[in-house]
Amino acid sequence: MRERTVQLSAPRAESAYRVAVVGSGPRGLMAVERMAARLAERPVRRPVEILLIDAVEVGAGRIYRTNQPPWFLLNTVAGMVSAFSGLPDDGPTRAGSGPSLYEWWRTIDPVNASPDGYAARADYGRYLRFVLDAVEGGLPDTTTLRRIRARVADLQSTGTGYLLTLTGGESLAVDRVVLTTGHSQPELTGPLRDLAEFAADRPRLRYLRGDSAADMPLDAIPAGTPVGVLGLGLSFYDVMAAFSLGRGGRFTEADDGGLRYHPSGREPVLVAGSRSGMPLPARGCNQKPPRFGYRPVLFTEQRVRRNSVRALDFRADVLPWLLAEIDLVYYATALRQRFDAARAAAFTSAVAARAELPDVVAIAAEHGIADLPRLNLDALARPFADRSFPDRPSFERELASIIRRDLVDADRGNVDSPLKAALDVLRDCRRFICQLVDYSGLTPSSHRDDFLGWYVPRSAFLAAGPPSSRLRQLLALIECGVLRVIGPRARFACDAASGRFTVSSPQVAGAEVAVDVVIDARIPYPDLPRDLSPLTRRLRERGIWTGYVNGDGAEAFHTGGVAVTGSPYHPVARDGEPDTGLYVVGIPTEHTRWFMQVGSNRPGLWGDFVHDSDAIAADVLAAADWERVSA
Ligand SMILES: Cc1cc2nc3c(=O)[nH]c(=O)nc-3n(C[C@H](O)[C@H](O)[C@H](O)COP(=O)(O)OP(=O)(O)OC[C@H]3O[C@@H](n4cnc5c(N)ncnc54)[C@H](O)[C@@H]3O)c2cc1C
Repeated sequence: MRERTVQLSAPRAESAYRVAVVGSGPRGLMAVERMAARLAERPVRRPVEILLIDAVEVGAGRIYRTNQPPWFLLNTVAGMVSAFSGLPDDGPTRAGSGPSLYEWWRTIDPVNASPDGYAARADYGRYLRFVLDAVEGGLPDTTTLRRIRARVADLQSTGTGYLLTLTGGESLAVDRVVLTTGHSQPELTGPLRDLAEFAADRPRLRYLRGDSAADMPLDAIPAGTPVGVLGLGLSFYDVMAAFSLGRGGRFTEADDGGLRYHPSGREPVLVAGSRSGMPLPARGCNQKPPRFGYRPVLFTEQRVRRNSVRALDFRADVLPWLLAEIDLVYYATALRQRFDAARAAAFTSAVAARAELPDVVAIAAEHGIADLPRLNLDALARPFADRSFPDRPSFERELASIIRRDLVDADRGNVDSPLKAALDVLRDCRRFICQLVDYSGLTPSSHRDDFLGWYVPRSAFLAAGPPSSRLRQLLALIECGVLRVIGPRARFACDAASGRFTVSSPQVAGAEVAVDVVIDARIPYPDLPRDLSPLTRRLRERGIWTGYVNGDGAEAFHTGGVAVTGSPYHPVARDGEPDTGLYVVGIPTEHTRWFMQVGSNRPGLWGDFVHDSDAIAADVLAAADWERVSA
């Protein structure tokens, strides 16, 4: 086994330049990969020691730890996932050049591997460890990698470098620290704290806080227990899989093309709900090549910024162009399907020719398509808003019919279904949205209300779905009574009289169920002041990490993200100065920047995921040379 404990007390080689990477999830690994690739291209004069530290599993990290059950799946197709910064070439697999997840997967599981398939998270973890081995194998002689499984509890500046203290009390002296600590646990507040405290006082009840489902004590919940599941997003599907496949149940093909569930008898009874009452729709079957890139026609920098040189208003400046782009893809796809590619191209040219915001729907009608239902993000994300149902069967019939329609679109694919192709614009334009939004690109109120409050939940709902197989499983579980979706505006409450939780929906008559367990099936958003990690708390107390604030005065929006400079992302300390020996990238900086919850790179395409790590690697290694000279 390569993972080992370092001799913490051993004196460091006199001239070695030591870099610690704290957090060995995909981000930390990419930082190491880029350092190794740069060192191979242009060695620095000093010996370099890279210390890769993770509290759970070095290489895979916590979210992709390799000892989790196989029913937890990635939500990105394997052909579009790589943890190498470059494609394979004629040389050995090494930092900067290696196979995608799919190319690796087919070597270990040729029967199940598919470029458009969804690998198990544990297999992604195995792939990440393979990447780390390849990176280590290609290191120049003057560079060493140490894998340290330990939790960092504190970090302090020594004036010439940094001292990391591990939870066991040992310490590590280093020159630079890259912080890629990923997902965190915030302190519970408001109604969630009420639920937790209610359960803490009653031995019969349990409340499980939001987390990766693989890290929840789900096995401890006995068969037949009524369980409330809060949230109908990706983690809900994980919980659903754990309580069906994970309890020994089986799904088989039914005559009607759907699935039938054969219970094992060990399942609890699930009652799930969310604000919308609608489970996350399915991801369209992938029809795009791994290196697909979308070039927006309307949603461009020039058009979005034409009325504004200052901070943007998301609703006024950004959203109209984004919605027009979504409409453009929707109608162009429909025209291509109904007529031909030439008709779709003529329509696209007519839309692109308008200098002002075009009426895409009217232009589509001129080109021969006027009967499609209009796209409305709110209606798609909240299909039951303002609707009420006289009883449970009528709600479940409507729910099933919406899901079945969604499955038809998902099966048509993300290029051929007008709906799924259009919603993919939300994914394909993420990078541009980041450019508009990051570092106070929006006014404080628009950032908080329009973007984080309105757009982000809808985008997450409509553009980040699970594989369609999960929705088929959901229908089968509802049909056999293992799962009930309670309805819209679900309420999870404590009933002091009965000493139990209740799950209810005011929009479905009679929808109220008593449960003994509530599982929060949502991944918590990072929020620096509420973060429970001892390291984060110490970094705050020491003034090394501060919260990013958009705006000032009465308008100021305290985002909850760690304040960092632009690339290479030094934390901005309490005195307002960047600490140039430290780097923070990924989830702790969410809200300073948007969409930090990324766990891979597209094969051979450098997105921000690679660029960010590469900029850090360049800065870290430039300092290795410089410090040698100045010493
Ligand atoms: C359940 C779940 C499933 C997901 N599935 C997908 C998916 O399919 N596709 C996708 O693109 N994204 C997915 N995501 C989004 C996710 O954010 C990324 O995939 C990825 O995990 C982010 O990588 P990271 O390295 O930034 O953070 P993480 O993966 O969270 O890694 C951070 C690491 O830091 C370690 N750490 C933290 N603090 C310390 C400390 N003080 N000392 C030592 N080590 C520490 C942790 O143990 C952890 O291993 C998923 C997220 C979750 C929660």
